[in-house]
Amino acid sequence: MFVPRPRMCAVCFTPLDAHTPLWAPIVPPIYEHPARAEGEWDHEPEPVDVDERVIHLCDLCLQPGGTSTFRTTKALVAIEEDGQIRDYGDDWAACETCATHVRRRSPHLLIDRAVSLARHPNGRPLNRPERRDLRRHIKPVHMAFLEAEPFEVPSGKQDQR
Ligand SMILES: [Zn+2]
Ligand SMILES: [Zn+2]
Repeated sequence: MFVPRPRMCAVCFTPLDAHTPLWAPIVPPIYEHPARAEGEWDHEPEPVDVDERVIHLCDLCLQPGGTSTFRTTKALVAIEEDGQIRDYGDDWAACETCATHVRRRSPHLLIDRAVSLARHPNGRPLNRPERRDLRRHIKPVHMAFLEAEPFEVPSGKQDQR
């Protein structure tokens, strides 16, 4: 299977998502910014090869600045509401604040942070029912992540499996 080369944006150094059109698997993939809490990105992606300037999004609160990497000791899969099994992978990027909560095994602080920083797609803060929905959605994921016994991987080692 063709696996797109990982690329990042030359403007903001965020890793880009590769989209390969199903109808044209031989054309180069289209690289786009990942969806993020603050809504739309203010610039077009400029794909370049990933180098040491890359800035990962935090996988726990979805803010830029995933500077630490945690690898789970146990496999981490979740059954989605539609019955699909989703594999969350082994390596999670975490920002400084989330990394502290992970080291201290504080699921509620992790969840509170992710919920309080989340934004509606139009940019406004979430209202109360939306926050409750989001919490219900991410709580099992964050709990499962901590139960999978994450340990910190020294930076620069994330790609050496
Ligand atoms: Zn960018
Ligand atoms: Zn974070």
